[in-house]
Amino acid sequence: MKNERSHRLYDEGLKYLPGGVDSPVRAFGAVGGQPLFIARGKGSHIWDADGNEYIDYVGSWGPLILGHAHPKVVATVRKAAGLGTSFGAPTELEVELAKLVCSALPSVEMVRFVSSGTEATMSALRLARAFTKRDKVLKFAGCYHGHADGLLVRAGSGVATFALPDSPGVPSGYAQNTLVAPYNDLLAAEALFQKQGEAIAAIIVEPVAANMGVVPPLAGFLEGLRGLTRRYGSLLIFDEVITGFRVSWGGAQGIYDIQPDLTCLGKVVGGGLPVGAYGGRRDIMSLVAPLGPVYQAGTLSGNPLAMAAGLATLKELTRPGIYVELEALGARLQAGLEALARRIEVPTRVNRVGSLLTLFFAGDEVTDYDSARRSDTERFARFFRAMLEQGIYLPPSQFEAIFLSLAHSEEDLERTLQATEQSLSTTA
Ligand SMILES: *Cc1c(COP(=O)(O)O)cnc(C)c1O
Repeated sequence: MKNERSHRLYDEGLKYLPGGVDSPVRAFGAVGGQPLFIARGKGSHIWDADGNEYIDYVGSWGPLILGHAHPKVVATVRKAAGLGTSFGAPTELEVELAKLVCSALPSVEMVRFVSSGTEATMSALRLARAFTKRDKVLKFAGCYHGHADGLLVRAGSGVATFALPDSPGVPSGYAQNTLVAPYNDLLAAEALFQKQGEAIAAIIVEPVAANMGVVPPLAGFLEGLRGLTRRYGSLLIFDEVITGFRVSWGGAQGIYDIQPDLTCLGKVVGGGLPVGAYGGRRDIMSLVAPLGPVYQAGTLSGNPLAMAAGLATLKELTRPGIYVELEALGARLQAGLEALARRIEVPTRVNRVGSLLTLFFAGDEVTDYDSARRSDTERFARFFRAMLEQGIYLPPSQFEAIFLSLAHSEEDLERTLQATEQSLSTTA
């Protein structure tokens, strides 16, 4: 495969952008080699700057559940752009999208749109602290909630990929207010609450963890957190930035039948444009300015192009059978990967919830950050490069999810499994 143009662009980018990228995992640091510069996408496929074609399993890290450049999304965004790209005043689109979000998630009675998932979690925590008049927050190791100070403590995603302890630049005072327990470890959470439950404003959790690779909640874990927060008067915040509108129309809270107090959204809800959102109980959301005293604002919040893309995407997702289709795609890929790994005798574990999946190069079950980190990341890196060489673009880290979209075809999966067979055999 020729990558001259990508390499040239990367060299040029390195001069002006830290690491040549605008988000760390894109730099391929964990898998070696140089990042590809992407020129365009259509459906499940992307083309790099040298014209090489790939089946894409990153999907912009989650938003593109319909695939790249979906005709309805593109048409809707074009139309919105022609009417003006931003007003800094309310528009009909925001009300429409808010209504749709509230109808999908019964726990969300009111919602505030922002421009990223980071903003959503950061604002939800401010709100939870204001509501409970407490400072501390409990998060779980390996869960990623964006890059706000105080949440970059034992975080997943790029922080896991680059094995950063915590980021420098986070004041120790912030980090001190962040308590951390292992994912899926209800007893550890209970122990922390027994000691300082009266000081804990909220638990924030990915109801399906997808930033240490995919790690589903064990039976009883989320219910336990719901019970614990009720008992101590703390709030339960589901960070559904990945899982919202991804694992079901009603998100992970719909699947596991738990009502959090607040929910954070992003990714799919913006249909590939910059959108985040936080919402939940009316009595809590009523504290948000201008209705209440908790300040949070944004020049481009509720941006008409972003709202249009989100609306067009969500409307497609209301078609019957969509999530059954995504489940079938995921199940098919999982079964194919597991069969190959067994036959070629590679110790692997596939964790999956719907269209989110991770192939861990691990011999044991992966249920938390520590077990995820025991994966053979060197082998993953070799596997990643072999797949890329065969035109399969996987997330460039063992600790990220494969994102399937409705645009992935039987033929895509077939080709992917053929490439997997080849790659697993040659990279032992
Ligand atoms: C991606 C992600 C975020 C951060 O969203 P950005 O839009 O990248 O700021 C927060 N939480 C979870 C669970 C995510 O996956």
